[in-house]
Order: sequence, then C-alpha cells, then structure tokens
Amino acid sequence: MKHRHHIPMFFQVGGQRIDVNHVERCSDHTSMATASLAASEVQIAEYCCTDTKQNQESKTNSYYHELIHLILNSMGRNDLSNDEVFVCSFAGFLTEAMVTAEFEEIRTDMNKEMEDRIQALIGRD
Ligand SMILES: [Zn+2]
Repeated sequence: MKHRHHIPMFFQVGGQRIDVNHVERCSDHTSMATASLAASEVQIAEYCCTDTKQNQESKTNSYYHELIHLILNSMGRNDLSNDEVFVCSFAGFLTEAMVTAEFEEIRTDMNKEMEDRIQALIGRD
C-alpha cells in the first residue's frame, strides 16, 4: 500500500522556501493548521481545539488547505484566500486528487539505457 498522505518537509511558492513544522498546537491554539508567507512557515497541529487529535487524513487536507492560502496570497489574490468556503472546497478536491493519484515509477536515462541493452541481449526489442 502506497503512502498517500505524504506531507513535505518544505516546498517553494513563488521562489520562497516554506517550511512545514509539525507542532503540538498552532500559535492560536485552535487551528488545525496555519500558514504565513511572512514567517515562511506552515504549522500543522497535532491537537486542535481542546484535546482533539488531528488524524493523518485531516493533516493532509490541512496541508493542502494552507498551500492554497499561500499560493493565492502569492498571486495577490487575498480576496480568494480570505474566502474560507472557497479554500475549503478547493482543498477538498485537491486532497482527493492527490491521495488517489497513481504515478509511474521514475526511471533515469541510465536505467532505461541499461534496460534497452538487456532487452537487446535477450533478443527483444
Ligand atoms: Zn483557511
């Protein structure tokens, strides 16, 4: 079973490195996650509200949710970023697409060349 809930350690948005930090609670003590271009950081909370533990599926959704905020803010579209209904809906679709995505195994040119040679040696095209 492939791990479909990978959250990166860092990524770039508009040339700016954003670190992903897993924290016990976000700075505001209630959010599941927060994002700040100024702080170059996404915080993902282990706990939100009082003692509600955030599960992995929820963390993945929170990550994409905050990523969308950062992208929209970088685009200068604070109007869209401030629309939580829009961001929540977008994050739901993006999370679904990403956790159900299947990727081909990446082969380097060297591996391809080796495989072609092996195929030639054993008499196949
Ligand atoms: Zn939000």
